[in-house]
Amino acid sequence: MGYMPEPSESIQPVYEPVYEVVKVVRLPVPNEIREPDCMIGPKVWVRRRIRRLAPWLVPRQAPRACCWHHQVDWRQAAGAAIRLVRQAQAAGLHGERISDYAVERLDEQGLGNREQDAVLALACTGGIEPNTEPNAEWRYFEGQHRVAAQLDQGVRQTVVQRREPFAPATGLPIRQ
Ligand SMILES: [Zn+2]
Repeated sequence: MGYMPEPSESIQPVYEPVYEVVKVVRLPVPNEIREPDCMIGPKVWVRRRIRRLAPWLVPRQAPRACCWHHQVDWRQAAGAAIRLVRQAQAAGLHGERISDYAVERLDEQGLGNREQDAVLALACTGGIEPNTEPNAEWRYFEGQHRVAAQLDQGVRQTVVQRREPFAPATGLPIRQ
């Protein structure tokens, strides 16, 4: 056997979350939810469908006791998450640094415990992650219950994240 050169070492990208503020009604339909009962069923689906097409026709649901997702006041939580993410981005932060920033400033937002948890569920790793690749089917990696509850409460805008590759040496995004 002759000399076999090592395959050239490829650079392993690091994946970091990229945060975006989006309109809730533009997100993929959260249609892979299986439970709890208050999240599914024909009536709920019809309301959500109308909410996406003609939101003024459906009354906004107030927070209610049935489950954690519906107990949260998502208008407050999404508002705070958007504020924190925008502040962090304006300060030049990206990736995991944005969730650190949100955690540090959480107490200053004047929220209840439940809404604080909801801000973390939006602004930290593990946040809502729609699959938005150009030719991919519209679906979610994460966050369908959170999107459904925000649709039910008529929340206009929220925070989502995509995981994108960055070059470890430069910290710059790698475009495929
Ligand atoms: Zn519920």
